[in-house]
Amino acid sequence: MRVLLVEDHLQLAESVAQALKGLGLTVDVLHDGVAADLALASEDYAVAVLDVGLPRLDGFEVLARLRGRGKTLPVLMLTARSDVKDRVHGLNLGADDYLAKPFELTELEARVKALLRRSVLGGERQQHCGPLVYDLDTRRFALQGEPLTLTQREQSVLEALIARPGRVMSKEQLAAQVFGLDEEASPDAIEIYIHRLRKKLDGQSVAIVTFRGLGYLLEHRDA
Ligand code: CA
Repeated sequence: MRVLLVEDHLQLAESVAQALKGLGLTVDVLHDGVAADLALASEDYAVAVLDVGLPRLDGFEVLARLRGRGKTLPVLMLTARSDVKDRVHGLNLGADDYLAKPFELTELEARVKALLRRSVLGGERQQHCGPLVYDLDTRRFALQGEPLTLTQREQSVLEALIARPGRVMSKEQLAAQVFGLDEEASPDAIEIYIHRLRKKLDGQSVAIVTFRGLGYLLEHRDA
């Protein structure tokens, strides 16, 4: 799952990015409002963490433009100001949550997890596909009740598939979930991850089905 973090205080950005990566997320870090606006217009994020005071374009304006484009991804606003007026302004513009600086990283992690739950699984904590279960809080998969060991990339692909039951995901859509802005997004590499995932799911009643020319779908086959 991909998350956008926009924070112009470099040290804070680094520590927040580390905390989010620790949750197993792919994190894009940007330091100004214009870059954030462009990324939000072109990329596919599960959640955005957005500082209010940003160079070039402030966080409120970035948020207003995002909502103006009809995008509903959850946004957590960060601010140095604990001003009630600011908070109300942010919420009116469509922010989903608000965190005043300074904050504890554990608090930020908890808020982001709650927003991810809403964004990715429609409020549910767990998603099932036959014997395969995904727990969003622990970000772990289990197969037949046993933990499934996955690399970060395999995990991102499988998360994207299980979060959209019954929907075919193209290689490009999967690549957008797996690769960050600073990485070479390679749709062809997705085939490799799909191949490895299939091996790990081999012999189970859950399978990744290929729709030629369209993409992939995670499916539960009744025995
Ligand atoms: Ca700032």
